[in-house]
Amino acid sequence: EDDVSIMEPSPKPTNPPPPAPKAEDYPRYTWSRDVEKVMHDMFKLNAFRKNQREAIDATLDGRDVFVLMPTGGGKSVCYQIPACVDLGKTRGVSIIVSPLLSLIQDQVQHLVSRDIPSYAYSGATALPDKRAIQDDLRRPKPVTRLLYVTPEMLGQSGAFKDILQQLHAKSQLARFVVDEAHCVSQWGHDFRPDYTNLGQLRDEFPGVPFMALTATANERVKTDIKSSLKMRGCVELKSSFNRKNLFYEIKPKHGKQVYADIQKLINSKFKGQTGIIYCSSKRSCEDVASKLKQEYGLPAQHYHAGLSREDRTKIQLNWQKNRFLIICATVAFGMGIDKPDVRFVIHFSLPQSLEGYYQETGRAGRDGEHSHCVLYFAYKDTTTINFLIDNGDGTHEQKATQRSNLRQVVQFCLNKTDCRRTQVLNYFGEQFDPRKCHKTCDNCFEGVGTEKQDVTEESKNAVSLVKEVFKDGVTMLHCVDAFKGSGAARIRDKGHDKIPSFAKGSHMEKGDVERLFQLLWTEQVLGERYEQNKQGFTNAYIKLGSQYQQVLNGKKKIFMTVGKMSQRKTNGGSGVGARTSRKSRQEETDEEEIDSDDDHDESFVQSTAK
Ligand code: ADP
Ligand code: MG
Ligand code: ZN
Repeated sequence: EDDVSIMEPSPKPTNPPPPAPKAEDYPRYTWSRDVEKVMHDMFKLNAFRKNQREAIDATLDGRDVFVLMPTGGGKSVCYQIPACVDLGKTRGVSIIVSPLLSLIQDQVQHLVSRDIPSYAYSGATALPDKRAIQDDLRRPKPVTRLLYVTPEMLGQSGAFKDILQQLHAKSQLARFVVDEAHCVSQWGHDFRPDYTNLGQLRDEFPGVPFMALTATANERVKTDIKSSLKMRGCVELKSSFNRKNLFYEIKPKHGKQVYADIQKLINSKFKGQTGIIYCSSKRSCEDVASKLKQEYGLPAQHYHAGLSREDRTKIQLNWQKNRFLIICATVAFGMGIDKPDVRFVIHFSLPQSLEGYYQETGRAGRDGEHSHCVLYFAYKDTTTINFLIDNGDGTHEQKATQRSNLRQVVQFCLNKTDCRRTQVLNYFGEQFDPRKCHKTCDNCFEGVGTEKQDVTEESKNAVSLVKEVFKDGVTMLHCVDAFKGSGAARIRDKGHDKIPSFAKGSHMEKGDVERLFQLLWTEQVLGERYEQNKQGFTNAYIKLGSQYQQVLNGKKKIFMTVGKMSQRKTNGGSGVGARTSRKSRQEETDEEEIDSDDDHDESFVQSTAK
């Protein structure tokens, strides 16, 4: 199976990849002057960004190129410019594979407005248009520079394949470009089965160079793309994934307060500006948008895959033209949408992976201007996501990957010490010196005088407590309260105020106790099991995790930042609220109104606000 083949080492290149040409060597190629001219005159750009020129030269040199650049980094020109450079005899048509029709249309429009002969060719193309395109491609020297296709066009045999073969025969097939190349990979966040067959083109059209572009730097995905597209010894160009102009921030999300928080944030910092609010489900998009609009007077509108195609196009267009400003969307929204002036991206719920988080936040500030990324973190949102994973149709392995992706996200949210950039970029395999952040993330901004502390002793006590009570079917919140020494009836009723580890954490801030339990969960020292009751609510019950022995016997040490939450008293905690959620079909996860246990949020806010 696919899962297995990915685990195998990728084939070794027969030759070491040729070094990428360096900027000092210019003008170095016969086409260098031409490239400059196309950049200035046709694309109206003043200078190349890092790696753009290198990518252009490598592909014009007939090599395979792999371009890794963050979202908004400027991948398009890496293939659009070479497609327009006249190489005399070798001039030909570039075939661009792109996953979404909306994305294709956006780009074709852009190019046509610059008088660059470009077309979209897909199942949706009208027959007369198809004919016109075919007629041009059949000429000895077609006028078409860029031909955008959806991947399924290349999977089919028939008229289109014949035309490609003719182009190839007359040396007019310049290159294959695979944009959003992570769609090839099952490990990517946006797998498209049609992408997996693109490697066949290698065999069908020998000698035609490939260019693959993606904003996904994950090693596993990268290896997967290269082997799937049979790219060997290619020039690999990787730009830093740091987005200097974005400010990253994780905020606690509790109860309905979050709407007021969003309102305050937008009205104080982004009034009259454009943003995206990512929600975890269609239902949540609608709820959030209508609440913000009706109760908080914000110009918001929902967008998700459940809407008709016309509605989606209309909403997208209206947003792009600033007819309304705030779009509440599922992650389905955004790929390839080039709206340069998105000033904020808000995650209303947890992203599914760090990779997803980075892609989604990456849609802010493409124009290079300062923009803000806020994630509202509530631990209880993990219950919903875990439930979706458990009940999803993934294989056992895929579910394990999804769970570990989620744990990484939670860990990221809980890490109040390390620079956000360092955390995410490290995940992408890039070293990042936190001094270069210049206080443009919450942790660097606020990070005075907080240190990681050894909380191994506290962890042992917490684990002992869980060991004593988990068989009684209790929630994590119950354990937090018992550890803190709460006198609540719930705890007395179960006799948990009599157990040896009761109140062992009474000296700690409640927020810190919560974070300790969450941390132990992400470290797999504690775990949870999910059960649905008759009303269709999912309850999450605490259990011991696979690592609990290691903590008890002292083999595993636990470190946590302590004290920071107490500095941010007004913010309250990270909201380990009621841990129930309504029965969820994929589309129907829910946020706030399901709190059956509202008093906890309140008691928590009080305890940290004193
Ligand atoms: P990506 O596909 O990597 O997400 P795009 O190709 O859509 O990014 O480009 C993002 C934005 O950057 C676009 O608005 C584009 O015009 C702009 N851009 C790209 N290259 C340059 C450059 N060299 N100078 C100035 N702007 C650029
Ligand atoms: Mg792009
Ligand atoms: Zn930082």
